Amino acid sequence: MKDYYAILNVPPDSTEDSIKKRYRELVKQYHPDLNKNNPETAKKMTEVNEAYETLSDPEKKRRYDALRQGGVSYNDGVGMPDFGGFDFGESRGSIFEDIFDVFRGRTTTRQNRPANNRGADIELSVEISLKDVLTGVKKQITVDRLENCETCKGKGTKSESGVSTCSNCKGTGYAQSETRTPFGVMFRTTTCPTCQGEGKQVKDPCSNCKGTGTEYKRRQVNVEIPAGIEDGMRIRLSDEGHKGKRGGTKGDLYIRVNIKSDPAFTRQGKDLISTTKIPYYTAILGGEIVVNSLEGSKKLNLHRGTQHKEVYTIKGIGLPDLKSSKRGDLKVIIEVEIPKNISSDEEKLLKEITHQKKEANSGPWWKV
Ligand SMILES: [Zn+2]
Ligand SMILES: [Zn+2]
Repeated sequence: MKDYYAILNVPPDSTEDSIKKRYRELVKQYHPDLNKNNPETAKKMTEVNEAYETLSDPEKKRRYDALRQGGVSYNDGVGMPDFGGFDFGESRGSIFEDIFDVFRGRTTTRQNRPANNRGADIELSVEISLKDVLTGVKKQITVDRLENCETCKGKGTKSESGVSTCSNCKGTGYAQSETRTPFGVMFRTTTCPTCQGEGKQVKDPCSNCKGTGTEYKRRQVNVEIPAGIEDGMRIRLSDEGHKGKRGGTKGDLYIRVNIKSDPAFTRQGKDLISTTKIPYYTAILGGEIVVNSLEGSKKLNLHRGTQHKEVYTIKGIGLPDLKSSKRGDLKVIIEVEIPKNISSDEEKLLKEITHQKKEANSGPWWKV
């Protein structure tokens, strides 16, 4: 039985909040972004998730604590408790994903319970433009990942009978000690040091892969990025991650999509925001101007007396929605330019207007 408190490094009487806080710290520490292509951290992450999954759920925690303390109804003296009642399979993925929302990651929930020798997941990122968000885009990504060792065909050994059950843990993968206390038997479980929890030992390891059955290969993987995707979203490519040890299943490949900032447009959900400068007389008189969109220039009619920072909306030429493909709008912020220098003709005209206005009004603000 794994010691989930030890995995999270929290005391057993921790509050729900402090467990959560600790978990977030560990997620940051082992986050795939910071540990690219390192199967060890992914493994650690899985362990941390498993621990958090149980300790964050009051009902699971209660049952786990009962097991851990060797309560009467559960204490059958068997080292490895049966976790049959703990349905990890369905929800493990969801917790993993929830917490990754901290990093603006989002994917579908994992459906399958990880197999014993499941390979680690890989996360890579790809950068796309705002125009790619409009149309969707196909990208080819270079992945360095563990695949079956060609020398031993993934077996990890030179001979067929090279793998045997670990003599230390008898194949369970756990080492255990028990202590009698006045309240019952206390179990402490750790990963078997001989086989590192695998339950197996390799007697004559393959010289190429040193018994892992895997070796690094560089591959090109195609990924289709849908229109409307948001910055930081992740796309999961099933079974494109690392191959597990000695015939284990494959992990998944996550592609994190980063969207390059665009000099002309700011994204606000489905809407695009742009700024355009107009001369002061156009602001006063109104008229047609041309503005940029992601699909070239568009005409925009300004009404008379357009104000500085006034926003015009052109419907339906924003970005598509990821689900419905219904498009957002382009919002154009108008900036009225006041010239620092004007021609003498312009000055003459303006003075004339000012003079006329002066005749009509007599406010104290006239100082021409
Ligand atoms: Zn090999
Ligand atoms: Zn062992």
